[in-house]
Amino acid sequence: MIEEEKPVQFRFEAVRYRHADNAGRQALKPLLRRWLSARKIDAGVVPLNTYHDLVEIRRRRIEHLIQSGWLPELAGRRWYRPNCPPVGILMEYRRQYHPCNQTFCPFCWVRNYVYQTYDAAERVLYPDKYVKRATLDVLLLTRQHHLAAQARRPYGLDRVESVIADMRGQATLLPVPGLAGGASLWSIQLADSGEYWTIGESTLLLVPTETPSPWWPGTLERLVSPSRKQLAYSLGGLLSYPQALLIGPPEWVARLLNYRRARGGNFRTFSTYGRMRTRGQRYDEWALRQLRDEDQV
Ligand SMILES: [Zn+2]
Repeated sequence: MIEEEKPVQFRFEAVRYRHADNAGRQALKPLLRRWLSARKIDAGVVPLNTYHDLVEIRRRRIEHLIQSGWLPELAGRRWYRPNCPPVGILMEYRRQYHPCNQTFCPFCWVRNYVYQTYDAAERVLYPDKYVKRATLDVLLLTRQHHLAAQARRPYGLDRVESVIADMRGQATLLPVPGLAGGASLWSIQLADSGEYWTIGESTLLLVPTETPSPWWPGTLERLVSPSRKQLAYSLGGLLSYPQALLIGPPEWVARLLNYRRARGGNFRTFSTYGRMRTRGQRYDEWALRQLRDEDQV
């Protein structure tokens, strides 16, 4: 059993262009825009060096978060995985490296939310590989909720948690006839002033073409029978990574990580429902491989 990971120099081979990879790049666009134009990101023209830079920023972030009070040992492991593998890229010895599954990690954000949502939506929308256009329409809904951080309890994460729990309850109650399934993701950011939290809600719904769009107190976009390519780009943008987790003030991110750890699996920020329901399993390639390895015994 490994107890401590030493940072290694990854050896990247090529950028990947599956639809899910394109969705992942769209979700990381806010970060990639530091180096690249939107046009290049859309085309997948991302130099391998960019991924090395992202890996380095993520490793430095671990150090800053620990200096700011993050207690990674609470994560139940004695190591904190400097070698969490990047997404959307082919690399040597990929199977040796294990995802960290930490809230702040942009790679695990893509693995756990974007890939999982894309895979589930694709499974429902395109019954077989010859189907080019979705059999249903896709609704993309977003809204933001601002929550004052209380003066005496400046971080008030218990309130953030209960607001998200309420929103999760409402997400499945939308009056949408024939709703086939959906997924919702909540992202959390603290304003630079530290005065309020912003909770961003992103929901994707699969609905029959004849179903009118519901009233929604935020922005709503409808993809009419989209192609896989359209779905990937729009879904990635919808589930955009909140870059403050990686480059914003480390103190509140450290608090958030500690709080989530203390709440165990109870503080959930991702839901799937209907035919998009997954069994709550994270997109953990390492865990899947363990299962497969066991199968072969
Ligand atoms: Zn990770």
